[in-house]
Amino acid sequence: MVEAKDDFLSKWEQTTTKSSSKLKDFEKECTLGTGSFGRVVLVLHKKDKNYYAMKVLNMQKVIKLKQVEHTLNEKNILRSIDHPFLVRMHYGFKDACNLYMVLDFINGGEMFSHLRSVGKYSELQTEFYAAQIVMAFEYLHALDLIYRDLKPENILIDCRGYVKITDFGFAKRTKGRTWTLCGTPEYMAPEIILSKGYNKAVDWWSFGVLVFEMAAGYPPFYADQPIQIYEKIVAGKVKYPGHFSAEIKSFVGSLLQVDITKRSGAMKSGIDDIRNHAFFLTTDWVGLFKGKLKAPYVPQCSGPGDAGNFDEYDEDDEDEDDEEFQGQEFDDF
Ligand code: AMP
Repeated sequence: MVEAKDDFLSKWEQTTTKSSSKLKDFEKECTLGTGSFGRVVLVLHKKDKNYYAMKVLNMQKVIKLKQVEHTLNEKNILRSIDHPFLVRMHYGFKDACNLYMVLDFINGGEMFSHLRSVGKYSELQTEFYAAQIVMAFEYLHALDLIYRDLKPENILIDCRGYVKITDFGFAKRTKGRTWTLCGTPEYMAPEIILSKGYNKAVDWWSFGVLVFEMAAGYPPFYADQPIQIYEKIVAGKVKYPGHFSAEIKSFVGSLLQVDITKRSGAMKSGIDDIRNHAFFLTTDWVGLFKGKLKAPYVPQCSGPGDAGNFDEYDEDDEDEDDEEFQGQEFDDF
């Protein structure tokens, strides 16, 4: 374990940009969300007075859960991206127990919470969000990055009502095929489940699942147990709600193709099949990219540090691995 930790630390160091900030420069406000190996907290930078979302990863947990490679990927990828619909990393550093990634704080909350509270989105609202995801994926794929974890929990809504994708924990840079089984059951492409080796086409599958879920209010493949979800996914049979228009049915159907040679986004004309689909007939791509369009929903935020759109977490509810986070490392908070 000690060797594994040293090796991990040296790889983290090699890829860390010189950062002028350290943990003591931040003041903790509250927890925004939790993940398998740590949590995301709202922090205030004492000098620049900006609010950030600080992702804190417990090193022992990352090693124990064999997520070293994924964590290094996440930081390297976050460091290299710059796009209006993707979250940005400002600082990355570490101490004896934790790794820290300091990101833009996106204060409108998760699409997941908003979608559950309104039930479902109209097709116009679905199109507004979907087009932004298309542009974000187009950018990532051009950099040979596969995202691999699209779902409403990882889509944040900013104060203007536009989306930002967060959590690059499963993202990977690859030109060819990859084999790792990862993602979230409802959103996994059939070729991942079948361990066939897969490529960026898996993102277009999960995008099809997301478009369906935004407009229906529930995902196309669901069941109590993951194994039952997987069976439905590989069978690829989609039952559309009665209120779906012909356009959205055809669009989702073109993405949820088990055979990747027939999947929109993965064929010869690439992303053109998606951008030119009737579902996006009236989409103003440039206006959207520039943030010029009025969003269908603008979250209520009283200020840049307002975390009211996030679930409340018990700040004392730390498990044993977070003790170090509480005591030793966060004395300043
Ligand atoms: P993650 O471990 O990256 O999936 O993050 C866990 C949760 O923390 C997310 O589902 C969000 O609720 C929250 N979160 C992550 N990144 C940010 C961010 N940049 N701004 C606001 N909240 C965030």
